[in-house]
Amino acid sequence: MSAALRIENLYAGYGQAGVLEGVSISVEPGEIVSVVGANGAGKTTLLNTIAGINRPSSGRIVFDGVDIGHLRAHQLPARGLALVPEGGRLFPFMTVQENLEMGGFSRRGSPEFRTALHDVTTLFPILRERREQYAGHLSGGERQMCAIARAVMSDPKLIMLDEPSVGLSPKMVGEVFLLVERLARTRGLTVVLVEQNVQEALAVSDRAYVIDHGRIVREGASADLASDAAIQAAYMGL
Ligand code: ATP
Repeated sequence: MSAALRIENLYAGYGQAGVLEGVSISVEPGEIVSVVGANGAGKTTLLNTIAGINRPSSGRIVFDGVDIGHLRAHQLPARGLALVPEGGRLFPFMTVQENLEMGGFSRRGSPEFRTALHDVTTLFPILRERREQYAGHLSGGERQMCAIARAVMSDPKLIMLDEPSVGLSPKMVGEVFLLVERLARTRGLTVVLVEQNVQEALAVSDRAYVIDHGRIVREGASADLASDAAIQAAYMGL
């Protein structure tokens, strides 16, 4: 099986400041893969570079068999790659329903659009209840769910989540991660999850990479990393 996403020796940064120093990761179709690491390790830079927001200085980004390293952010959703940025970045003065509609904008008016809207509100029932509310009035957990649902509306093959646990209560983190797992398992969606919350990320993912100062320093099955004493001491406060 060919990888859904393959990053080869990726370098990227801001101006003269290098952040990613030769990152290589590979994600198989249907897998949940997390990239975990401390504050400032380069996790957001990695996702933004894959998503075409930052430009790579060298290396390759192959998604669904195509080198996308030269493409811009707006070209990627139509190819099946969706990013849920940190904090969700919803449109606060639009309702939940309008935010979801924006996610499926390119399919608006089609029968698939109505089906997609029905599907996401079935998957995220709280959003059906809140559909007339302004997104800016949602709780942190609801906002995160709405942001994920909005990305799902674009019918992605692969969804990248940037720190979905930030600012959420432990209970809400559990609920959001359960939904992420359900999305992957029931829809065959491939998920790349970037997290500082290492314990939760390892619990939900199949495999994981540990990033430190822009380099991948460990990789393996999430269960193995979660029981590794060095990882526990460095990242899990155990
Ligand atoms: P966090 O959890 O804090 O978001 P992270 O692992 O996602 O951490 P990045 O946000 O990718 O890390 O940041 C990696 C490095 O790049 C940090 O040293 C950060 O200060 C720097 N950086 C991030 N964004 C910019 C920017 N727009 N311009 C210059 N430097 C930046």
